[in-house]
Amino acid sequence: MRLIFFGPPGAGKGTQAKKVAEKLGIEHISTGDILREAVNKGNDLGKKVQVIIEKGELVPDEIMNELVKMKIKELNSFILDGYPRTLEQAKSLDKILKELNKPIDAVVLIDVSEEEVVKRISSRRVCPNCGRVYNLITLKPKNDEICDNCGTKIIQRKDDREDIVRERYKIYQKTTHPVIEFYRKNNTIITIDGSKDVEEVTKELFNMLGRFSQNDNN
Ligand code: ADP
Ligand code: AMP
Repeated sequence: MRLIFFGPPGAGKGTQAKKVAEKLGIEHISTGDILREAVNKGNDLGKKVQVIIEKGELVPDEIMNELVKMKIKELNSFILDGYPRTLEQAKSLDKILKELNKPIDAVVLIDVSEEEVVKRISSRRVCPNCGRVYNLITLKPKNDEICDNCGTKIIQRKDDREDIVRERYKIYQKTTHPVIEFYRKNNTIITIDGSKDVEEVTKELFNMLGRFSQNDNN
């Protein structure tokens, strides 16, 4: 199964994509995670993108397209989370997938309001070591601000400050949201109300994906 998870920053794409990827045994490709890993390593890619990410702006299409191309070449099934974010990226992905003969099964649009996004992201914390995502309101670690998985102190992402979140939301509305129209022509779009709690969203998502996963396993 090949899916695109689409929606504003903070909608819960990463949270849900991890669950679906684990259940279906497929790869979760988060372009944000890949870029943050490069920044942490301090490699060439990381040096190029660090300032852009911290300002909440979009990394240039050429960089993103090449990165995703390398990643999906080897994979049969995957969830793309955070890509495509521009029409150019959607067109590039379309071209690559046609060449590889690996069409997208569905685009999952997780819908959440700006105020909910700001609330969620302001309380998001991440583990700088293993990448696990927490929320100080809805998904706290067992011990105060310590990662359940690896014991590292969890932190706030630099781009999760409220002013930058609002900027990222603006960019989403202006540049990313319109990309859904590109997919409306030829793809199945599954719209999920992402404002419910995590388990309810997961349940709805699995219900909607049920028939696709059955087809994929046959
Ligand atoms: P995205 O990948 O779309 O940016 P995340 O999955 O990182 O979003 O979720 C953003 C924040 O909101 C995280 O702190 C996460 O724990 C929390 N979160 C995710 N889904 C929900 C939900 N349905 N209800 C409340 N909080 C949520
Ligand atoms: P995310 O983890 O999806 O919220 O992404 C974090 C940041 O990484 C974004 O605000 C962008 O700066 C950058 N980024 C991630 N994916 C893309 C993409 N497809 N195109 C451009 N920039 C991206």
